[in-house]
Amino acid sequence: SNKEEKIPQADDSAFLMDTLVQMRAHGENAEKAVEASMERIRELENLMSKTIETSDIYKLNNSPEMKIDINQESMKVLKKAVNYAEQTDGNFDPTIGALVELWGIGTKNPEVPSESEIKRALSNTGYQYLKLYDSSAEITRPGVKVDLGGIAKGFAAEEVKKVVENYGIEHAFVNLGGNVLVIGDKVDGTPWKIGIQDPRKDRGNVMAIVDAVDKTIVTSGNYERYFEKDGKIYHHIIDPKTGYPAENNLLSVSIISENSFDADALSTAVYVMGLKKGMKFIENMEDVNVMIITEDLDVYISSGLKDIVEIKDSDFNLIE
Ligand code: ADP
Ligand code: MG
Ligand code: MG
Repeated sequence: SNKEEKIPQADDSAFLMDTLVQMRAHGENAEKAVEASMERIRELENLMSKTIETSDIYKLNNSPEMKIDINQESMKVLKKAVNYAEQTDGNFDPTIGALVELWGIGTKNPEVPSESEIKRALSNTGYQYLKLYDSSAEITRPGVKVDLGGIAKGFAAEEVKKVVENYGIEHAFVNLGGNVLVIGDKVDGTPWKIGIQDPRKDRGNVMAIVDAVDKTIVTSGNYERYFEKDGKIYHHIIDPKTGYPAENNLLSVSIISENSFDADALSTAVYVMGLKKGMKFIENMEDVNVMIITEDLDVYISSGLKDIVEIKDSDFNLIE
């Protein structure tokens, strides 16, 4: 209609937080809102990156046994991360950094470590070695490294939401490498249609569609970052109990809920927990849903998803 055509639209994409960020906003201030959002993500990356030497996390990781001043934003993420570590019995653990570095997944030279290397990195893993105070933090054991890769993008998505809402935007979406957040519905008043990535195929091939208004859909999968050695896939979600990539016969876990910050932690946590424990954990939470895809292409959904998800590919079997 004419009304739709008059609403300005802005699109942008950038490589931030180690991933492709894509964004769209509709509204009078769409252009400014998108620009400010990208800037905000860049700020957060500068605070929480493991590799940027001025970041809170870099300083924390490289000055063990010292109280390090931490910015408010990083502190929120650290606190939420430790909270989920406690709630998930350590299946989600922000001190996974030593193991992530050892495996090098996503770097140019990933390698299967030796047993003794795994043992050593495991001894340097455990959120009990991360002490949080009001505006400072301390790593109490040298060798322990914080890695917020499993939660920081969800926080960033929520910050984008604040930014665009401050610009009066009512219709927008942001996708931070599989962390999708939609604001409002589409301009034409219908829900956003969010695709769930087909874990077997190239990016953009979807196996299901979820109708979404003011929702987040966050996927953790074994296909995002991995390497192959002797016919075996080694991916980037590590089981903090074994030191190896979590082996649960899962291809992906998607959390569908209202809050991307929580959803990001949960998608990673459920992936580590596996089908049974993970499904039970989510069914006990209010307003949080999950879709789990197994290696057999069986699709398990929590009860709240029955009416809003549509499987598009008959290779997948919805288990009810
Ligand atoms: P993606 O990075 O593709 O969004 P996730 O949100 O599942 O996927 O996060 C995976 C990242 O989280 C890893 O690259 C690593 O930085 C970190 N990580 C790996 N295993 C764990 C774990 N058990 N608990 C917390 N963070 C983890
Ligand atoms: Mg993620
Ligand atoms: Mg995550």
